[in-house]
Amino acid sequence: EKTRSDQHPSLLHGKYELGRMLGHGTFAKVYHARNLQTGKSVAMKVVCKEKVIKVGMMEQMKREIAVMKMVKHPNIVELHEVMASKSKIYLAMELVRGGELFSKIAKGRLNEDSARHYFQQLVSVVDFCHSRGVYHRDLKPENLLLYEDCSLKVTDFGLSAFSEHLKQDGLLHTTCGTPAYVAPEVIGKKGYDGAKADIWSCGVILYVLLAGFLPFQDDNLVSMYRKIYRGDFKCPPWFSPEARMLITKLLDPNPNTRITISKVMDSTWFKKSVPKTIRTK
Ligand code: ADP
Ligand code: MG
Repeated sequence: EKTRSDQHPSLLHGKYELGRMLGHGTFAKVYHARNLQTGKSVAMKVVCKEKVIKVGMMEQMKREIAVMKMVKHPNIVELHEVMASKSKIYLAMELVRGGELFSKIAKGRLNEDSARHYFQQLVSVVDFCHSRGVYHRDLKPENLLLYEDCSLKVTDFGLSAFSEHLKQDGLLHTTCGTPAYVAPEVIGKKGYDGAKADIWSCGVILYVLLAGFLPFQDDNLVSMYRKIYRGDFKCPPWFSPEARMLITKLLDPNPNTRITISKVMDSTWFKKSVPKTIRTK
């Protein structure tokens, strides 16, 4: 099918001026871009069609677009416009200027109030998506973007799934995500509940925010998976008892007894209010 930009190859450059690269992942490069008509800045995700087709991910790419159009939430990156040329797909998205949560942790662990502020925003997105039958499946600090005012935006629905994709057993069967953040049952290849897998990733993220390092780490991938399977991790001494309790419930290797999102929102650690100084910093 012919797209607008195939007919007008210069449309992208006619409409958007591409600037510096903001980041990249497996299939995409993301650039700063300016809409020449409005003067507004956006983040332009540029995906190489050939690469996506080669690894059989075109359906998944379409899903990313469909999901982003569907999930409108103050803590989810907004998709403004989708364009395509013969070789590329372009997603014009809301520009989040503060960088990845990943870079923030790389500078050092957070105190519990700051961590809570980010975690509450993350959980509100997860709850929102799950209630609409959408599972992110790639939650990690590289996909959590920040504004200067410490508000958080979830991006990269590139591996997400809809609940309609469940097989007859009501479970998802695609192994995906990033090893260190992946739930044990996802590694297990026996099928898993997308909601529970996202909750596990939230547990890894919360741990990383408070610790400054990963809960399951090993140079050897097999040994790392073994630790994940067993839920074999230790909380550093500076974690509060309430944080320890919540993390232990999130990183429960048994998906059937793992805490649910509503119980997370009802936990003591989660409900503690965040001082105003952090919210407006
Ligand atoms: P991939 O699917 O290849 O992982 P992502 O959508 O995660 O691509 O984007 C790759 C990186 O680009 C992100 O980790 C982030 O650093 C940057 N990025 C993505 N979207 C935005 C955005 N809306 N605003 C600012 N930076 C972004
Ligand atoms: Mg990514």
